[in-house]
Amino acid sequence: MAIQTVNPFNNQVVKTFEEMTPQAVDAAITLAEKTFGSWKHTSYEERAAILHCVADLMRKKSTQLAQLITLEMGKLFAQSKGEISLSADIIDYYATNGAAFLADKKLEPEYGEAYITSSPIGVLLGVEPWNFPFYQVARFAAPNIMVGNVILVKHASNVPQCAAAIEELFKEAGAPEGLYTNLFLSGSSVSAYVTDDRIKGVSLTGSEKAGASLAEAAGKSLKKSVLELGGSDAFIVLEDANIDQAVEWGVIGRMNNTGQCCVAAKRFIVVEAVADEFLTKFKAKLTGLKVGDPMDETTELGPLSSESAAVELADQVKRSVDAGAKIVLGGKRIDRPGAFMETTILTDIKPGMAAYHEELFGPVASFYRVKDEKEAIKLANDSPFGLGGSVFTSDKNRGKNVAAQIDTGMVFINHPTWTQPDLPFGGTKHSGYGRELSSLGIEEFVNKKLVRFS
Ligand code: NDP
Repeated sequence: MAIQTVNPFNNQVVKTFEEMTPQAVDAAITLAEKTFGSWKHTSYEERAAILHCVADLMRKKSTQLAQLITLEMGKLFAQSKGEISLSADIIDYYATNGAAFLADKKLEPEYGEAYITSSPIGVLLGVEPWNFPFYQVARFAAPNIMVGNVILVKHASNVPQCAAAIEELFKEAGAPEGLYTNLFLSGSSVSAYVTDDRIKGVSLTGSEKAGASLAEAAGKSLKKSVLELGGSDAFIVLEDANIDQAVEWGVIGRMNNTGQCCVAAKRFIVVEAVADEFLTKFKAKLTGLKVGDPMDETTELGPLSSESAAVELADQVKRSVDAGAKIVLGGKRIDRPGAFMETTILTDIKPGMAAYHEELFGPVASFYRVKDEKEAIKLANDSPFGLGGSVFTSDKNRGKNVAAQIDTGMVFINHPTWTQPDLPFGGTKHSGYGRELSSLGIEEFVNKKLVRFS
């Protein structure tokens, strides 16, 4: 895949970038390792000062940075601004709380005295996706820079200007050279660098295929990896739910970022008693969204991130329909230039169909009608993924009981799966392992050293 900006609103190539040579990558790793030698000795205050400065710059340049996101991957402009604001909040969160999270912890052993002290492990490589080009990087880079690690980022090939802009923010904030380095590399070449001894850990957000490839290379060279992969979150609606509220959240949960979120509500599992009411109201809300330029603030449905993403999604819908699924809304590409796909609702989905097993990364909702709560939980868990999920009920205890039975890393009651700096984020099964955000996210690439004395 070429490293280039292609505007998905019209599929025109805007700018192309050269892939780095192996020699240039080698020089970047050497510089990062050298910088680690001094960065690991800086104080938490020094690290926090740089991070706060990056966050301030992000807020100051919010419009310009949001325009880059929208240009490169088609996110609605207001949502791009929201992403910049959230990314700045994450960076500030770690700058403010990192030292407390990493403070020495006294233990109470049976013999002697002991404590655990946190120290950085070195140069880390992050492989990041295009769907939230600033947020995904913020949640990897900020905690690790607070730890004292240094960062190399290979960003997705379709967001090179976002990738370069993030590196520039660190430079402008006064970060030492080599603390944060952007690598212009293709996905197919990055795993080869994972085995380099100077790289001590890797983190990837993206597809299962990319995750497996990176983790294989990390495993071979005995280094830690964190993977945040796809999801097919269930959105369970029980008969005692506030249906209007569930519909409102369902629309946001499915349509945020034009459906291209790992934690989007993808499988709507509604109990029989309220299924017709939910489907009628849900369809009404998803019908007639204003299609157009994502830079135009009145647009409600923008393009997907790329032409290939739209082709793949339309193919998943077609394969499902060919196998017997029914279309209640949409179902086709929109007849205009750009990577557009109709807002779609599929029903009558059965095991064996694409929509049952695969992740639908776009504005396509899978609707399932089930007998009761027990059947809803069983269906929710019949997925290779285990990222997030939600349950709607007016009984909080019932919600907690359902949450306990769902095999995922996150469950939200009366809310779609969401993200904020102080909540851990991550999954189980094919959705990956490890956690980002909150105090858990800062602990992934840390040497938790035991010191015992008598
Ligand atoms: P990819 O997994 O291909 O891209 C994510 C990142 O991984 C990019 O930087 C990409 O680089 C890199 N990459 C690609 N192949 C490899 C590899 N073999 N080894 C190491 N790194 C690699 O995602 P896509 O853009 O193709 O999206 C496809 C699917 O991935 C989506 O439908 C969705 O299921 C999932 N996805 C999940 C995301 C999430 O938030 N969890 C985000 C994005 C995608 P390059 O761009 O150069 O190929």
